[in-house]
Formats: sequence, structure tokens, C-alpha cells
Amino acid sequence: MTDQIKMAPCPFCEGPPCVFVRDYDTQKSVDLDRPQTEFFDEKYEAHVWCHDCGAQGPDIDSCTLCLFEDKIDLTAMEVARIAVERWNERSAKARGCYDAGEAEGLNVFPRATA
Ligand SMILES: [Zn+2]
Repeated sequence: MTDQIKMAPCPFCEGPPCVFVRDYDTQKSVDLDRPQTEFFDEKYEAHVWCHDCGAQGPDIDSCTLCLFEDKIDLTAMEVARIAVERWNERSAKARGCYDAGEAEGLNVFPRATA
């Protein structure tokens, strides 16, 4: 059984988080406890979303996790677990991109025309 993890509230409205998992190829919803096939050939995609405002956390999928993080043969539950961990993360790892855009006046809407 997968260890329980506390899900953080929505970062926008503090609403309740929900987990969504689907088959990567068919895009059809799957149950969290769906077992992998004997060939480990199913791929999954998952994200956490806020039930109140609809904000969505990062989309996590088996293919990207395999290519960039060497995580293979993942079950639907394992992909969902990683989606929850990413939802819970509160980091400033992309702040440098925002600041670079700020220096170029890109953080306003609508942007000034060149
Ligand atoms: Zn929300």
C-alpha cells in the first residue's frame, strides 16, 4: 500500500485538492489502484486540481518521468503520488525566469507592442 501523504490546500483559494489520473495513450480516466500490465506497457498521466476554483498542478506523466528522471514501470498510483508531491511543492525555482521577463517588461498584460 502506498503511504499516505497530506495534500496541501490550493495555493490560490485554499480549496480542497483532487487527484486525476488517466491513461496516457487513450486519455481515459483510470482508477488509482489500476495494476500495471505484465509487460509494464501502460503509461499514465496525473495532476492535482482544486475542486473549488479549478486551478491545476503540474501534469505528470510516465514518459517524462522515464526520460528525465529515470523512473520506470510506474503504476497509476505511483504517477499520482508524484503529481501530489509536485502539487505540494512551493518553490521559487523559476523565479529567475520571471525576473528576466520583468527586466524586459514581459510581465504585464497586454504586453506593449514592439
Ligand atoms: Zn482553488
